[in-house]
Amino acid sequence: MQQTVGIIGAGQMGSGIAQVFALAGYKVLLNDVSQERIEAGIATIGGNLARQLASERIDEAARKSALANIASAANLTKMTDADLVIEAASENEDVKIAILREVSAVLAPEAMIASNTSSISITRLAASTDRPEKFIGMHFMNPVPVMELVEIIRGIATDDETYQKTVSIVESLGKTSCVAEDFPAFIVNRILLPMINEAVYALYEGVGSVSSIDKAMRLGANHRMGPFELADFIGLDTCLSIMQVLYDGLGDSKYRPCPLMVKYVEAGWLGRKTGRGFYDYSGDTPVPTR
Ligand code: NAD
Repeated sequence: MQQTVGIIGAGQMGSGIAQVFALAGYKVLLNDVSQERIEAGIATIGGNLARQLASERIDEAARKSALANIASAANLTKMTDADLVIEAASENEDVKIAILREVSAVLAPEAMIASNTSSISITRLAASTDRPEKFIGMHFMNPVPVMELVEIIRGIATDDETYQKTVSIVESLGKTSCVAEDFPAFIVNRILLPMINEAVYALYEGVGSVSSIDKAMRLGANHRMGPFELADFIGLDTCLSIMQVLYDGLGDSKYRPCPLMVKYVEAGWLGRKTGRGFYDYSGDTPVPTR
């Protein structure tokens, strides 16, 4: 029988998650705060699928059936048939808890709930539901249709059955999982963000320029993107909030956010999404700002 997945939040991540589930043959119920947001998410998926078709990564039948698998669910009461719900709303704990309370009340007792949070405690989110043992972190990477990894995070109450089912679901999407225990920022961001923060310190202290540090890490450490290109892609506000989660959650001064990163965020220079971060994106090619 076709499995049904409810996805809450149709933004950057939620729409990408909806796309990969729909392509893998799941029925997807997509929710957001308004019908317009849901439609914008579905339009993004339509555009991505058209690009995948044009580059022959999928065929016309797959594109059509993926789109047919996605239905809008402006109200969470439409999620009653979902076997799994994935929360991918804005990174705000109060917002997530309100959503989780509301949706857990309408789901069948055996349904599982996952959160795509980048940094909020899975154990704490699970405690706001009526089924902490069936609650798990599914941390997809951005852009979801391209990135192979899904980090699975077990809360303290997550049971083995829920974990095993989640591993199988990730495989069914053609992706690979790694498992992390529920500590601040999990694995990928626990290691990646201090590296980016250290690059900002190196810039702040005058060790090198933006282009010199990016080139050093691309060619010297074989990274696909330099730390500043990557930070601008992630968003400097997101980078700062993850550093803050590490600093608050682990209480170690080595995680203190670099004052230069704080200044960029205060200036509204958040990276690609605002047209300026460590690079200026107003022209044809990005220009380093320092
Ligand atoms: P986004 O801003 O693009 O999308 C968030 C969506 O959630 C918006 O469309 C918003 O309208 C919706 N939303 C807000 N409140 C809601 C509510 N009460 N009910 C339903 N929908 C609601 O953000 P995003 O980048 O897609 O991030 C979503 C989640 O994914 C966050 O938890 C974030 O930490 C996580 N995440 C982000 C990335 C990334 O690189 N952007 C990577 C991995 C995980």
